[in-house]
Amino acid sequence: HQETQYVGRFAPSPSGPLHLGSLVAALGSYLRARQMDGKWLLRIEDIDPPREQANADELIKETLVRHGLLWDEDVIYQHNSHERYEQALKYLRVNGHCYFCQCTRKQRLANPKGQPCACAQLALSPQGSATVLRNTVAVHEIDDLALGRVSFEEQSKDDFILRRKDGLYAYQLAVVVDDIASGVTEVVRGADILPATAYQLALYNLFAQPAPAYVHLPLVMGDNGQKLSKQNHAPPLNNELASSNLCTALETLGLRVPSHLNNAPVTDILDFAVHNWSVALTADNPHAFDNRIDA
Ligand code: GLU
Repeated sequence: HQETQYVGRFAPSPSGPLHLGSLVAALGSYLRARQMDGKWLLRIEDIDPPREQANADELIKETLVRHGLLWDEDVIYQHNSHERYEQALKYLRVNGHCYFCQCTRKQRLANPKGQPCACAQLALSPQGSATVLRNTVAVHEIDDLALGRVSFEEQSKDDFILRRKDGLYAYQLAVVVDDIASGVTEVVRGADILPATAYQLALYNLFAQPAPAYVHLPLVMGDNGQKLSKQNHAPPLNNELASSNLCTALETLGLRVPSHLNNAPVTDILDFAVHNWSVALTADNPHAFDNRIDA
């Protein structure tokens, strides 16, 4: 019998350089993969060109390298996966799980939760329409390795977009198709994405694929009490301060780095973390999840 190899990934969108919040996600997923003797993949989620920043992928890679977070295998770019997304969409369409929708964003938000919009009855043409998944699967909860049992009240029956009106593939579709293609066994990422997990699990069900395990990590809050994000203009990581950045990120993950390591080379800090961090420490960190769901 063959053991399934642990495969993890870090999947940043190239909308700007990494900040401390993204470092926590990168580090947590890296540590899990190394502890499990698995693979750690880097996937650049470049499916939304209007929101991307030229060269951000290079900045992201440079920052990861300078922080000692070295990935396995070639970097995966989602722009190379369009064929796969199209196949997946076709599969869902042919099996009657989709409808075309011409609602504006405003109309969509105004639609009652858990009910398809009027477009579902209209057999609209694909031209100028979004492709929407009719979500009847209702995934109600997961056992997250850090958060414990999480219930999805709202999301579990929401229809959601697979391909936007402008023709761009939606994150939910791309992330699931690529995670399946790479054989990802565990998804470690920021808790801001937690609500989307319900949608993603619906897709795993429809594709008849086993879902990965999930570890949603605490978000880093800025001084203004908002999560650090590119939208909130979180400052980019300073690569010159890699060791101290790692120590700060580890503290968010519930691991205090002994002071003699504070200015140590990143490899020493990572080595310490691989041997001493665990998801349980993150789960036990009393402040880690104070603001965990802000999506
Ligand atoms: N690309 C997403 C982001 O940057 C993360 C996707 C994921 O980890 O599932 O927020």
